[in-house]
Amino acid sequence: MGAIKENTQRTGGERMSESRYKELKTMLEERRREIQAEVQGKMRDVRAAGEVGKLNEVFDAVESSEADIQEEIEFALIQMKSETMNKINDALARLEQGDYGYCFDCGEEIAEKRLRALPFAVRCKDCEEARENAERRERLMAQRRGSSSLFFDM
Ligand SMILES: [Zn+2]
Repeated sequence: MGAIKENTQRTGGERMSESRYKELKTMLEERRREIQAEVQGKMRDVRAAGEVGKLNEVFDAVESSEADIQEEIEFALIQMKSETMNKINDALARLEQGDYGYCFDCGEEIAEKRLRALPFAVRCKDCEEARENAERRERLMAQRRGSSSLFFDM
C-alpha cells in the first residue's frame, strides 16, 4: 500500500534513465579496460622486439630493418588504440554531463545495441541511414555533373 513510487527521477535533471546510464557507463569502462590491457601488452611486445632487434643487428642488417618496420606498425597500432582511449574518455565525460547516447539529428536515445557495436555513434540508425542516402545522392549528382562537364570539354 502507500504512495506509488515516482520512477521518473533522472540524473542531472535530464532525460536518461538511471539504468541506461549505468549500462552505458559499464560498457564504456569495460571497453577502456580492454584497450588499456591491449596497449600494455603491445608495449611489452615492442620492447621485447626492440631488444631482439638489437641483438640481430650485428648478424643480419636486412632482418633488423624488417623488425623496424614491424616496430613501426606496432607503434601505429598503439597510437590508434590510445586515440580510441581518448574517445572513450570523452564519451564517459559526455555521459556524466548527460550528453552521451543521444542522436545528433533527432535528439532521441540511440539504441543500446547500436552503442555496443559503435560506441562513438552520434546518430540513431534511422538518421544515419537518411544521412548516408543523402550523401549517396549528392555523390551521384556530383558524378553526373562531373561527367557532363567532361562531355562538353570534348
Ligand atoms: Zn536520430
